[in-house]
Amino acid sequence: MTAFWTEPDFDDHEMVHFVRDRESGLTAIIAVHSSHLGPGAGGTRFWHYPNPKDGLRDALRLSRGMSYKNAMAGLPMGGGKAVILADEARTKTPELLAAFGDAVEGLNGRYVTAEDVGISEADMVAVSQRTSHVSGLPVSGQGSAGGDPGPFTSYGIYLGIKAAVQHRLGTDSMAGVRVALQGTGSVGGGVARLLAKDGAKLTLADINKDSVTALAQELGAEVVDPQAIMTTPCDVFSPNALGAILNEESIAKLDTQIVAGGANNQLARSAHGQVLFERGILYAPDYVINAGGIISVATEYLARREGRTGSVDEVNALIEQIPGRLERIWQASEQGATSPDVVADRMAQELIGRG
Ligand code: NAD
Repeated sequence: MTAFWTEPDFDDHEMVHFVRDRESGLTAIIAVHSSHLGPGAGGTRFWHYPNPKDGLRDALRLSRGMSYKNAMAGLPMGGGKAVILADEARTKTPELLAAFGDAVEGLNGRYVTAEDVGISEADMVAVSQRTSHVSGLPVSGQGSAGGDPGPFTSYGIYLGIKAAVQHRLGTDSMAGVRVALQGTGSVGGGVARLLAKDGAKLTLADINKDSVTALAQELGAEVVDPQAIMTTPCDVFSPNALGAILNEESIAKLDTQIVAGGANNQLARSAHGQVLFERGILYAPDYVINAGGIISVATEYLARREGRTGSVDEVNALIEQIPGRLERIWQASEQGATSPDVVADRMAQELIGRG
């Protein structure tokens, strides 16, 4: 593996920690991009990388993303990410998770972990046997922070969509507003339910035909083929499935005024934010609008450090700041003729002392 500081994604990361435990077979990279605002927080990805350099790249890129996301969520947390380099069979043993927990504990709280792709709540419970620097643990009681972050992410996106509709269409009512949702899983399904209650006119698409049909029946929504959702005429296109869906070709075909959804890394390349801006489509930067989940996870962790249980009310109060943050981004974007994703990145860089 080449030195991390020669990697194109190395961005003055404060720490890149390489972990190897022969007995359990653990190989992992823990990256902390910035701890300017607090401990580097971000999930652990468990993935098989045929080329381990891609694991290093993910750790660097995703930890920087968490610095920006946590800063823009108003959290006293920096950005970090761990990647466990799984073998081809994706062998995950209690010993491997214990060794990973020991590695996190050894960093004395500089890095706080949680679930990410390939890591379940049960895995985090196992890791928490070895370190207290863990979040995303099962919810401890009615009204307590923690548990599945999906519904919190959905709530933030719902509020962000309403803010975008207010900003672009000049109305605070969702009645009759046409929203096309790509992906109706944990996040997209939650957004659809909240919008349906407000009388929005929904068009849904998901590769899981049974679940999308059932949801459409429940909500009185239309269903279109996944291939057709990005060209469906609508007021709001809400991507809640895959990343990298916004490129020159797809943006040219969008028939919407607003793009606002929860999928991570929606822009295929950063230049595509400018392409959306030039087409006059209002874009809600993904890591700002989809921060509800990390707000829940962080609130759970920070409250536990204070010896108490965080509450859903605390989490919701922080999520309710997302619309104001988006509004400030859109205003600065319009004043400076700069796309909202670039404005958000600059704001995040200021917040982490790298402006
Ligand atoms: P999920 O797996 O529950 O839902 C994803 C849905 O997208 C599934 O129903 C899947 O069938 C569907 N899908 C996949 N490919 C599709 C396609 N080509 N067209 C239409 N539908 C397709 O995942 P989720 O937790 O809802 O996350 C959705 C997105 O939001 C992901 O990009 C995730 O990284 C991001 N996100 C999630 C959270 C969270 O709290 N869960 C937080 C921040 C960001």
